[in-house]
Amino acid sequence: MFPKIIITIDGFSSCGKSTLAKQLAQKLHYTYIDSGAMYRAITLYFLRNNIDRSNEKEIRHALQDISLEFILNKHSGNSEIYLNGENVEYIIRDLVVAEKVSEVAALKDVRAFAVAAQQKMGIDKGIVMDGRDIGTVVFPDAEVKIFMVADEAVRVERRFAEMFDKNPNISLDEIKTNIAMRDYIDSNRKVSPLRKADDAIELDNTHLTEKQQLDFALKLVRKVCEPVL
Ligand code: C5P
Repeated sequence: MFPKIIITIDGFSSCGKSTLAKQLAQKLHYTYIDSGAMYRAITLYFLRNNIDRSNEKEIRHALQDISLEFILNKHSGNSEIYLNGENVEYIIRDLVVAEKVSEVAALKDVRAFAVAAQQKMGIDKGIVMDGRDIGTVVFPDAEVKIFMVADEAVRVERRFAEMFDKNPNISLDEIKTNIAMRDYIDSNRKVSPLRKADDAIELDNTHLTEKQQLDFALKLVRKVCEPVL
């Protein structure tokens, strides 16, 4: 049995964080947590209920009514997010949510709510969590921290291919604008902006295959775990 540690994967939008995180978790028999899905689900709730993002009292009230859960889909082998008992894994990937999520994720009460839930999920370790502030704020003592980067054009193409499957009306320009906007807001917000943790290892996967990036990450994990193996 592999020792249980915490692995964090942070980086800009569409760098392939979730692909790597899922494969790592599968290989190590760890749990994968998609922290972005939590911010997306909260955003969906805010949109559906017309929550005023400038009203702190309303935000705090809304958060009290939100329950988030990850449940394993036995067919796909992936865990999916549930918002108040409803599976929203698919709908939160919509551009309507993507257009608002960074503004919602910049709210301090929303972050406190999500970070507390994420830290609870990591209590028993044995997890891979991806996001923007996982190595800096959520798990500053994580044993392995990866910061992923990739060229912008490659990121846009990857996200376009992913979104086009669900929505053939989407354009490359819409994707490009959305990624640039989210990266800007995520990097410049006041509360826990996206940045590389000092002790994170940068992984540029612009020219890497999925297998090559997985091998790179596994090497890092083995190096940390070697003394206890
Ligand atoms: O990872 P994903 O692209 O699904 O994340 C959606 C959005 O959620 C990001 O653009 C960011 O605004 C927010 N996010 C965050 N902190 C995290 C994960 C995601 O602010 N740890």
